[in-house]
Amino acid sequence: MSKIIVAIDGPAASGKSTAAKKLAELLGYVYLDTGAMYRAITYIALKNNIVDDIDKVIKAVKGLDISLKFENSVTRVFVNDEEVTDFIRTPEVSEKVSEISRIPEVRTELVRLQKQMSEKGSIVAEGRDITTVVFPNADVKIYMNASADVRTERRYKEFIEKGMDVKIDDVRENLKKRDEIDSGREISPLRKTEEAIEVDTTNLTVEEELTKIVALIKKAELNSHHNSLK
Ligand code: C5P
Repeated sequence: MSKIIVAIDGPAASGKSTAAKKLAELLGYVYLDTGAMYRAITYIALKNNIVDDIDKVIKAVKGLDISLKFENSVTRVFVNDEEVTDFIRTPEVSEKVSEISRIPEVRTELVRLQKQMSEKGSIVAEGRDITTVVFPNADVKIYMNASADVRTERRYKEFIEKGMDVKIDDVRENLKKRDEIDSGREISPLRKTEEAIEVDTTNLTVEEELTKIVALIKKAELNSHHNSLK
């Protein structure tokens, strides 16, 4: 079977990771959580107190070895062999990540790594520029969305389940602010391309959403198989 690339973009907490994880498990594809990579850089910049110094961030990102390991439904993230999985989804990292992600040199470096990660086999990748910049030739392109209220509630619930003390209004504000920066930046802004199929998850269960996407992927697998026989 030839290699299939599934690319998913969408605003914060629109359901991309949940869907991408389940799809990867179901279909045996590699799962690539690109947001985790931007978060890892942000965490390192915060830890080294350089988050507001663009030149230092650029210098740091070039010397970092970032790797991801998807195990038991969790993306484990390593920077220079140090595991940072538990530190990258905090409100502090969420507060700064969009500022770090708008730095062109940071993006160039991470996009290069992301492309490398697709060389091994079929992949489902999610983020903000996957359908447009990282894998513009993806076999399946999806733009996920959901109402701001539903996205806020989902993210708030995740924090509470992890025992984190957050206020729902702060969560709402952070999602709004990140979406504004991510969609408004000059380089690789989040946008829905013409070819991307929009999946609005506001009123869908995860199962319903997966059924829709799996059907699209199966069609792409058939096409790819058909083309390889030509
Ligand atoms: O996907 P997640 O919400 O964890 O992503 C965190 C942040 O990383 C986003 O708000 C965005 O600023 C950045 N990001 C990006 N491009 C991607 C993935 C994430 O700029 N492909």
